[in-house]
Amino acid sequence: MTIQPVRLFGDPILRARAVEVETFDQQVRQLVTDLTDTMYESGGVGIAAPQIGVGLRVFVYDTGDAQGHLINPTYEVIGDQTQTGPEGCLSIPGVREDVTRSLTVHARGFDMDGAPVEFRAEGLLARCVQHETDHLDGVLFLQRLDPATRKEAMRVIRESAWFSAGVTVLRASEIGARKRAAAQGRGR
Ligand code: ZN
Repeated sequence: MTIQPVRLFGDPILRARAVEVETFDQQVRQLVTDLTDTMYESGGVGIAAPQIGVGLRVFVYDTGDAQGHLINPTYEVIGDQTQTGPEGCLSIPGVREDVTRSLTVHARGFDMDGAPVEFRAEGLLARCVQHETDHLDGVLFLQRLDPATRKEAMRVIRESAWFSAGVTVLRASEIGARKRAAAQGRGR
């Protein structure tokens, strides 16, 4: 297992479009392993390759009910129902805001062996597919917030120790520890 450091808001790779995987080789399998190990170490529900500094269209997820990875993902929205709920991002520690997303999507992509994968996702998994696919297009969840909430989120970012110190990468274990501390602070 190879836990990787996590890139934070401010690192330009998070604003860049990631490119399609063309060769399903050992490097891609290693990337999926690294992403999975880093996700668990940092306590995330999902993580996309740019967040560990790799500009390829790959993400992994574990919502508790569903676990896996998706390469060159696309999705289509099913129906017009939306969900609004708290969302955070490993690359923006300390920020958690309500985001409105589609309730149901149909996701398509490939697994690490290049075999086609598709599944219908609802609720948290659908939220995860949308959040992680956004990452591959260089879009952060901040851009999905309404203007007032985004302003508040930006205030929290500017006042956070990591941002003020110009830190753009953190150890996954440190993000995990912060998340656990924040969860305790919320009484969970
Ligand atoms: Zn994220």
